[in-house]
Amino acid sequence: MAKISINLATGSLQKEDIIVGIDLGTTNSLVAFINPENHPQVINDAGKGVLVPSIIHLNPQNGESIVGNDAKAHLIEDPEHTIFSVKRLLGRSYKDIEHYQNFFSYKIVDDDNETLVKVKIEDKYYSPIELSAMILKELKARAEHALKTPVNRAVITVPAYFNDSQRQATRDAGKLAGLDVLRIVNEPTSASLAYGIGLNPEEERTIAVYDLGGGTFDISILKIQNGIFEVLATNGDTFLGGDDFDRAIIEFWIKRSGLTAEELKQYKEIRQVLRLKAEEAKKHLSFNEQYNNDVQGIDCSIDKSTFEELIKPKVDQTLSCCKNALADAGLKPENIDSIIMVGGSTRTPLVKNSVSTFFGKSVNDSLNPDEVVALGAAIQADILAGNRKDILLLDVTPLSLGVETMGGLMDVIIPRNSKVPTKAGRQYTTAVDGQVNMKISVYQGERDLVKDNRKLAEFDLKGIPAMPAGLPKVDINFLLNADGILTVQAVELRSGVKQQVEVKPTYGLTDAEVEQMLLDSVSHAKDDVAQRMVIEARTEGEQMLYTAERFIKNNAQFLSEEEQIHTIKLMEELKSILPEGSKDEILSKIDALNEYTRPFAERVMDVAISKAMKGKSIE
Ligand code: AMP
Repeated sequence: MAKISINLATGSLQKEDIIVGIDLGTTNSLVAFINPENHPQVINDAGKGVLVPSIIHLNPQNGESIVGNDAKAHLIEDPEHTIFSVKRLLGRSYKDIEHYQNFFSYKIVDDDNETLVKVKIEDKYYSPIELSAMILKELKARAEHALKTPVNRAVITVPAYFNDSQRQATRDAGKLAGLDVLRIVNEPTSASLAYGIGLNPEEERTIAVYDLGGGTFDISILKIQNGIFEVLATNGDTFLGGDDFDRAIIEFWIKRSGLTAEELKQYKEIRQVLRLKAEEAKKHLSFNEQYNNDVQGIDCSIDKSTFEELIKPKVDQTLSCCKNALADAGLKPENIDSIIMVGGSTRTPLVKNSVSTFFGKSVNDSLNPDEVVALGAAIQADILAGNRKDILLLDVTPLSLGVETMGGLMDVIIPRNSKVPTKAGRQYTTAVDGQVNMKISVYQGERDLVKDNRKLAEFDLKGIPAMPAGLPKVDINFLLNADGILTVQAVELRSGVKQQVEVKPTYGLTDAEVEQMLLDSVSHAKDDVAQRMVIEARTEGEQMLYTAERFIKNNAQFLSEEEQIHTIKLMEELKSILPEGSKDEILSKIDALNEYTRPFAERVMDVAISKAMKGKSIE
């Protein structure tokens, strides 16, 4: 156990280097640092602008990627190769996103409901982690260019509701971009730090952070006590934001113009022009009473009160979310000490005034709402760098703790820098039918493969009742107490079989060794993540083969001979590529097998259903 003085992590090596704060957003991303005058400041590299649109264009010809405004220009003419909103996919499985899949203009691979989604561009597969890493790399490059110094360490913010898997994916994206991610911080915590709330450990406050961006809305209620930010409740709508305001204006203009849908079609690309004008009008009305314009004969004028009438239902929707969040936290509006405004859409006066009326006090809006999260992240980075001695330091774990999963990968359960005491857990299952024992190996370290980490303990959970693969539910829980003792417990939930061990993770480790482990993890980060991706693809391939084999064995009668031969050929191809193939090669073979066999599963289901229906009358 160690105090969060960053020396342990980086020692004397990086005394001079800068730790940046990064707001990795759905629409825009940006990076901030603490300037020599000790103030947080956003980075504007060579006048390119502070906000970097979180958009990536992947050139199908040469495989090159561009990020930001230049990529945004491709959104309309090359939508299949232009990735936006990748944050909505980060750490998610296909099951998580299938109901809004149509929102994306690019192809999302749906071969497995459970594992993380991938994006397919031509014959290449990209994970949202790789895509987010491209955005982070661009931010890193801009920071390095503007500050004229290497940037290797960062604090990255995430929404308060992000789960374990989404946080881990954000960390991995940072690693892949060549950044040592010192901390993943909640966006509302960052915003509050930017306003100086929470910097005085004596102070106790309950705050609301209202974040209305282009496409998403979040409300978070936080309690700040002894320098700890506790999230009491979060609420929101993942498809509500300033874009809805733009759409309301467009509909209003079109309706007033009297043009029919047919007539509108004749104006090529007119919706796109109207969209730009609508956003312009909305921004203008944040500071003026009237907007006047004209697009190809369509009157594009609107006054503030009409605009406010149009958007009122959307603003009211955000207030219902606030009401729900307060109820979940067991609080009333008057219990909230401060309200912080985040996101570009909070510049709209109706939004600001409605929120202020709802909570019964004025809101904090003196900082730029687009920048406030990144500014707070820079302050958090400065705290971690040990530059703010007045801030209470918490005891944290110096190295991550986790278990070995398929393919020898490290699955982190308690991440490095978690404050102690802490507990965390995850559910696992068996890989083969009838498996009755499960080996649980506990490791410590930052590398992606367990062989590069330090083994702390190993034990067998015995007596799992024989069941088909995937059915047993094994909960593995880590409890790290204030003295740094780790208790690992494994329970199979269906049968109740249980096993536990106790270890002291820091036993026998010197500070220098901890430091070396951290430095190694930084220098090997890129290779590690690349290796992890190949192993994950390989594991997915092995599971696919296992399922396909079982399917053919049990359902051969439903397939023609030709279908059986072709399936076996595709399986052979996958099998032969597994040991040496690249990630893309393996994934494309999985995809091929999956595409071909998908209709068979449906066929078998249909037969099963009609069998079940036979002889039964429908009343
Ligand atoms: P964010 O996702 O936080 O970057 O917010 C972007 C959203 O803020 C977009 O919908 C913008 O149109 C909106 N926005 C930016 N500036 C203003 C403004 N002056 N008034 C109203 N909305 C704005």
